[in-house]
Amino acid sequence: MQVLKFGGTSVGSPERIKEVARLIDDGKPKIVVLSAMSGTTNALVEISNYLYKKNFDAASEKISALEQKYFTVVDELLSTEKYKALGNDLIKGHFGYIRSFVRDMFTMYEEKEILAQGEQISTALMNYYLQESGRHSDLISALNFMRIDKNGEPDDYYIRENINRELRQLGDYYLVITQGFICRNTMGKVDNLQRGGSDYSASIIGAAVDAEEIQIWTDIDGMHTNDPRVVDHTHAIAELSFDEAAELAYFGAKILHPTCVVPAKLANIPVRIKNTLEPSAAGTIIKKDVPKVPIRAIAAKDGITAIKIKSDRMLMAHGFLRKVFEIFETYETSIDMVTTSEVGVSVTIDNTKNLEPILSELRKYGTVEAEGDYVIVCVVGDLSAQVNGIAAVVLTAMKNIPIRMISYGGSNYNISMLVKSEYKKQALQDLSKNIFKEF
Ligand code: ADP
Ligand code: ASP
Ligand code: MG
Repeated sequence: MQVLKFGGTSVGSPERIKEVARLIDDGKPKIVVLSAMSGTTNALVEISNYLYKKNFDAASEKISALEQKYFTVVDELLSTEKYKALGNDLIKGHFGYIRSFVRDMFTMYEEKEILAQGEQISTALMNYYLQESGRHSDLISALNFMRIDKNGEPDDYYIRENINRELRQLGDYYLVITQGFICRNTMGKVDNLQRGGSDYSASIIGAAVDAEEIQIWTDIDGMHTNDPRVVDHTHAIAELSFDEAAELAYFGAKILHPTCVVPAKLANIPVRIKNTLEPSAAGTIIKKDVPKVPIRAIAAKDGITAIKIKSDRMLMAHGFLRKVFEIFETYETSIDMVTTSEVGVSVTIDNTKNLEPILSELRKYGTVEAEGDYVIVCVVGDLSAQVNGIAAVVLTAMKNIPIRMISYGGSNYNISMLVKSEYKKQALQDLSKNIFKEF
């Protein structure tokens, strides 16, 4: 069995939904994971923000505009009176529910409920369209099987048990449709896998059903050598290892959710990235064994804060780093890069929710400086390939850019450099221009 995930653009209009229906109707049993139609989750975030601020007029206006958009989608997608009526009732139901939040009480829990509406609508519409056009499909709710634990990690055992139970109940299934992104938490409340999380859903589901392949269908023909939104002349990479793909996703290649590759890697299930707009393009295959190349691709992760702790007394004393790291652990803040010297240690974080208490605890151990507005520029490949001079080529490519931190050797797959965000574009361009001609 295969698990296929279609992103927002892939289901972003009635035409695109029809095209996806054609693509998935190839006679092979599969689970299809859908995102919300493009723009919907952003609109729901905007609605939630208005509700937080108790700007009920703006929220209501935005809700009505989005609802109107969906009535048009129903009208263009479905053709019979029966299904048009079902579609319109569906939209009225979901938007009636969203409207019920236009009142005083609005917390994080209500926000999660609102964000979950987009995937529920797109999957229900797809299912109606498939049924109206005579295909046999089944819709199962991700809220019945997708669950995160108290650390926000997928609860693998629960997911495996429950999705397989749902599938058994369907009996002889062929096309199963479900939602990406949404889940429940340990309290049973609606939650999500963070923005872009539908990729992660597909990978978690693939592992839970022992799929033979997980396919991520999106709006580009695979993982490119660099961010195509920033750099010209990038191209799709035919093959990537799980480790390389994991580094690229974690360090900012938006095409994959940061942790999407992890479940597939653990279960050794290949992940194929395909272009819905050009289904015949080969795409990118991510798997365990691929030929080694020194440099595969470049990515950048935005929104990074650097923290430097200087201490003449403590640094070389054993246990100092443990104390520093424990502070980040206490405040559930993960560290991306670390560099050390005789008198100081620098780390980077992207989650600044607890920055103030972290800084005040760190001050017990030395002088502390924090500065935001950085990006991590990351060069990914197989650095264990027997080629000399990889670091020299990378650093020469960066010769016109001030580098705040460098990390090399943390894994075999990545060289990371911290630069001010104003240099991101130039860094990505200069790296692309200089290193692919060498390797
Ligand atoms: P979806 O809605 O299908 O999940 P996303 O917008 O999340 O799609 O991801 C696809 C986009 O990721 C592409 O359109 C492209 O602009 C962007 N992107 C960033 N880095 C890369 C990269 N290295 N390779 C391919 N696409 C990338
Ligand atoms: N709809 C969600 C988002 O826009 C999840 C996804 O598309 O992957 O973030
Ligand atoms: Mg995405």
